[in-house]
Amino acid sequence: MPEIINLSRQIEKQLPAGLVGFMQQAGLAAASQGQSLYLVGGGVRDLLLGRTNLDLDLVVEGDAIKLARRLADSTRGEITTHPRFRTATLRWNKWNIDLITARSETYARPGALPTVQPGSIDMDLFRRDFTINSMAIALTSSRYGQLLDPYGGRNDLEHKLIRILHDKSFIDDATRIWRGLRYEQRLDFQFEPNTLRLLRRDIPLLDTISGDRIRHELELILKEAFPEKSLRHADELKVLSKLHPGLKGDNWLAEKFGQARFSNLPLAALYLALLAYRLSGEETEGLISHLRLRKSLAQTLRDANSLKAKLGLLADPELAPSRIYALLHDYSSTAITANSLAADSPVARRHIQTFLTRLRYVRPTLSGNDLQKLGIAPGPRMKAILQHLHDARLDGEVSSKKGEEGLVRGWAEEPQPGV
Ligand code: ATP
Repeated sequence: MPEIINLSRQIEKQLPAGLVGFMQQAGLAAASQGQSLYLVGGGVRDLLLGRTNLDLDLVVEGDAIKLARRLADSTRGEITTHPRFRTATLRWNKWNIDLITARSETYARPGALPTVQPGSIDMDLFRRDFTINSMAIALTSSRYGQLLDPYGGRNDLEHKLIRILHDKSFIDDATRIWRGLRYEQRLDFQFEPNTLRLLRRDIPLLDTISGDRIRHELELILKEAFPEKSLRHADELKVLSKLHPGLKGDNWLAEKFGQARFSNLPLAALYLALLAYRLSGEETEGLISHLRLRKSLAQTLRDANSLKAKLGLLADPELAPSRIYALLHDYSSTAITANSLAADSPVARRHIQTFLTRLRYVRPTLSGNDLQKLGIAPGPRMKAILQHLHDARLDGEVSSKKGEEGLVRGWAEEPQPGV
């Protein structure tokens, strides 16, 4: 007889009282419908590790939508249902709770999305990626708190191992390779030797996965605390080169990622710009289309790449502020910051910082309306005068409204003021 482990005390100790109460209530509601309910996946793993995880994934043996409706009534929460997959999300208080109907999955061919059939909790655990994610805790009244651990997940947690459930796991779904690399760095675990052997064998199957799914996995990695660790191992295993052969997960990248964390920009885009930074323009386009990056992110990568060609000009210590502005103002903050982090020249880095912290906010005081009052008609000449005023402000040649008016009057007397 396998030992029966009950985790109800751990649940109470680690989760907020509101969530514990909810799980107990949900267990009772499921039982009253003749269904069984389980907490599964990352929630169980993190409970055993003593890590906080407030994302609850619940599996219902029966019909998750039916239970979700009942719980939405009793909690006055809101639900979204996906009848095709028999899943529902319940939003209640500040929590999002996913309820899925226990299912088995079969794969018609490598890289295909699975064919899904209703099943038991055992089948549902068998379709999962790693043993540490393939445990469940029963929530239905009489068995509340009991751990289901059919694949030795608890033992692997103890030994810090990432292990697949069967030898065809990466063949069924090669995105698990990226998922494993993510858990490895997050938990400071290692691939179990046979898993690592099969991972190496199945790396070519990453080619069967759609760009969208790979991008999703990469995005998850870039949300982690230290994505460079996953990318380093991905590089060593030649998984990173499947994204693009020119990418590197080396010390340079680790150093730049570490510095990027001091910026207050959205980190995922900045990380990606740094990862792609050493690609050529053409290679960057290859990566963009392989990962089907959305427009704005693709533009950030292109900007970061094309700005690289201007770093030589930015390395000139004598560069006037108006020239720094002209070189940089068309680019996004993320592309500029990526270049600031990547630039070898301290002078270029200083100029970029001056732009980011000061120059980009500088504006002349006079507007087009003010210029009209000074007798300048709207048109190309007015545009040129405004541009000159902006440059004069940037270069510190003028610092007050009066001073700007003086400059404009002087230019107005010339037939073509510097245009
Ligand atoms: P995290 O692990 O990032 O903390 P999580 O464990 O909740 O979050 P999700 O990506 O939300 O992970 O997936 C929920 C569960 O679904 C996982 O714990 C795992 O059991 C299973 N799962 C997710 N993706 C796969 C996959 N590609 N193959 C098999 N099982 C998967």
